[in-house]
Amino acid sequence: MSVSTAPLAALDVGSRLGRLRERLADAPIDALLVSKLANVRYLTGFTGSAGVLLVTSDGARLVTDGRYTQRAHEELAAAGAQAQIEIGLTGATQRELLVNAVPPGSRLGLEQHSVTWAQLIEYTTAFSGVEIVPAGELVEMLRRVKDAGEIDRIRRACAIADDAFQALLPMLAERPTEREFAIALEFAMRERGASGNSFNPIVASGPNGSKPHHVPGDRVIERNELIVCDFGCIVEGYCSDMTRTVSVGDPGPDARHLYDVVLQSQQLGRAAVAAEVACAAVDRAARDVIADAGWADAFSHSTGHGVGLEIHEAPRVASSAGDTLLLNDVVTVEPGVYLPGIGGVRIEDTLVVGATGAEPLTLTPKDLVL
Ligand code: ZN
Ligand code: ZN
Repeated sequence: MSVSTAPLAALDVGSRLGRLRERLADAPIDALLVSKLANVRYLTGFTGSAGVLLVTSDGARLVTDGRYTQRAHEELAAAGAQAQIEIGLTGATQRELLVNAVPPGSRLGLEQHSVTWAQLIEYTTAFSGVEIVPAGELVEMLRRVKDAGEIDRIRRACAIADDAFQALLPMLAERPTEREFAIALEFAMRERGASGNSFNPIVASGPNGSKPHHVPGDRVIERNELIVCDFGCIVEGYCSDMTRTVSVGDPGPDARHLYDVVLQSQQLGRAAVAAEVACAAVDRAARDVIADAGWADAFSHSTGHGVGLEIHEAPRVASSAGDTLLLNDVVTVEPGVYLPGIGGVRIEDTLVVGATGAEPLTLTPKDLVL
């Protein structure tokens, strides 16, 4: 195993609440109730499975339950987050703790993409005299641009995935089932320091490769066929994402041609990535190559997505995306072609967006034939 164990660069959690507050006035709202757990973690360092964060113009209050009293104090102190911790043993007590911090007449923003209908009813009832408004994705927009500590964690997660995959490649020649290979990959990433998968690994062999999100099953991986492996892991909350398509032995001229087209598409998509470039332009750069080869309809998903605390986050790298890439966005480029009855090819890297190009964090070579 050759993954660095050097200490990771510090995360700058302490400044995030201040940067969020600067955006409250523009929203315009007086307070934001942050209920999406990835956003709570981003702003405070809290990793519990239940908790909401109320951010006002002059304070922040994390409300959680008795399971997390000690952990909340430890994690917020370690992160340097300035938020008061309140413990409510019941849902009603927790809501009361939130209501007390929002003066009547205020405008309170909710994260409408993660609040459930039931929560909306509870909050509307509890915050009587407060105007509740949808607040968009204020925290998600902050989360897009990564600091050095975040990039360091994603880089480590990518390095672990690279090392695990390359160590396991010889196993593919031993005719494992897809499931056996996927489990080995999960174990190898955990062994190298990952806290878990960023999603369940996809191992799609032969004709199963035509399903972009195939669930690894009992099919035995044979020689001379395409094997699509898409996987990633988590390091201190941050995800990695990589796809490689390989074959044990020569998969034949048609499969090689398919692979070459997708590889060229991925290279051109990658080459298009830079700050201030439209996300749709990156998608087009990758998509045109595949369309020219006659497989426009067989590239049935968008070209990429942001990666961070969530495996899929802003920005979208898609033909319908309206925004542009920002310096230190972390995105994937992952074109694929899927041919029912035959199989598929996808090639994916995780990249840091730079001023004039992109730095790949996933470094496994792209040799088709093992
Ligand atoms: Zn992936
Ligand atoms: Zn992906």
